[in-house]
Amino acid sequence: MITASHAARLSPPGPDWRTLWREAVTDPAELLALVGLEHLADRLPADDAGFSVRVPRGFVARMRHGDERDPLLLQVLPQLAELQQVDGFGTDAVGDMDARSAQGVLHKYDGRALLIASGSCAINCRYCFRRHFPYGDEMAAAGRWRKALEHVRQDGSIRELLLSGGDPLALATAKLEELSQGLAELPHVIRLRIHTRLPVVLPERVDEGFQRWLAELPLQKVVVLHVNHANEFDAGVDAACARLREAGATLLNQSVLLRGVNDDADTLAALSERMFAAGVLPYYLHQLDRVQGSAHFEVDDARARALVEALRDRLPGYLVPKLVREVGGEGSKRPV
Ligand SMILES: *Cc1c(COP(=O)(O)O)cnc(C)c1O
Ligand code: SF4
Repeated sequence: MITASHAARLSPPGPDWRTLWREAVTDPAELLALVGLEHLADRLPADDAGFSVRVPRGFVARMRHGDERDPLLLQVLPQLAELQQVDGFGTDAVGDMDARSAQGVLHKYDGRALLIASGSCAINCRYCFRRHFPYGDEMAAAGRWRKALEHVRQDGSIRELLLSGGDPLALATAKLEELSQGLAELPHVIRLRIHTRLPVVLPERVDEGFQRWLAELPLQKVVVLHVNHANEFDAGVDAACARLREAGATLLNQSVLLRGVNDDADTLAALSERMFAAGVLPYYLHQLDRVQGSAHFEVDDARARALVEALRDRLPGYLVPKLVREVGGEGSKRPV
C-alpha cells in the first residue's frame, strides 16, 4: 500500500518552498484574474490600508473559479469595508504590547512562553492582527534567540515554549536548528508548540530537512495549524500533515470564525471532519480579534454560541472546537 507520505517521498522533488514563497501573488488584480473575476477589479480599494496582498499560487488553485464568494478568496482579497473605521476595532486588539516581558517573548499565561520567531507570513489574511502589530524590530529570529531564550532559561515555571509570529516556519530550517541548540540548555522546557499556517498555505515547506529537524527534537511536539475552511485541504496539505505526524507531532487546528467564510454549521462540521481525515483535531474556534479593518468579518457572540451548539449536536465531542476570545490581561483565552 502506498500511503500519502510514502507517495510524497516517491514523487520527484517539486520547486523549493522559498521559490514558491517568492512567486506568491501580490497584485490583487492578478488574483482576481486568476480566479476568473477580472470584472471585479474596479471594486478593489485604491489603498491597501497598509497591508499588502500575499497569497501562494497553490492556495489560489484551491479557490473556486468564478465565485466571488469563495471562502478562500474572501480571506485574502482586500475589501472596501476594510477602510471603514468601526468603534471598538483598534490596532492592539489583544494587548500584546503590554505583555511583552522580554524582546521577542510574550509570557502571558502560566507555564507557557510564546516566542515571536518570525514576523513574516506566506499569506496575508485580511482579518489578522498582524496588519497592525509592529513586529519588524523584535523578531527573535534576527539573531535575538539568545536574549529571548535567556528569559525562558531564568523562569523554571515555563514548561512549554510556543513558536509563533508571523509564521515560525518562515524561518529557514538552519535558523530553527540554531533554536534547538538553545533549547538544549532549557531542561525545564518539555514541550515545543509551533503555531503555523504554512503547512496549509504552502505545504512544500514541510520538506525533508524540516521533517528531520522536527523528528530529532528531544521534546514533546505539538503543531497547531490554522485552517478556516475544508476547501483549504488538498493532497499536498494531507501529505504535509502526514509528514508532521511521522515526525512525532500532535496536530491541532485553530480557526477564526469569519462572516461569509465559515459562519454556518454545515461548513464548520465539514471542516472538523476534513481535518480529522488529515489527522488533525480541532482545538480553538476564535472570535475575531477586533482589529481595525476586520469588522466586516465579525460574527456576534450569540450566533457564534449557537453555531458551536449545533456542532455539539451533530459531531463527536472531540470534533467540536472550543469557542474562545483573547482578552488582553487575562490568564487564558476566555471561553465565549
Ligand atoms: C494563545 C496564547 C498561548 C497559548 O494558549 P493556550 O490556551 O495554551 O493555547 C500562550 N501565550 C500567548 C501569549 C498566547 O497568546
Ligand atoms: S499570522 Fe496567521 S492569520 Fe495572520 S496573516 Fe499570518 S498566517 Fe494569516
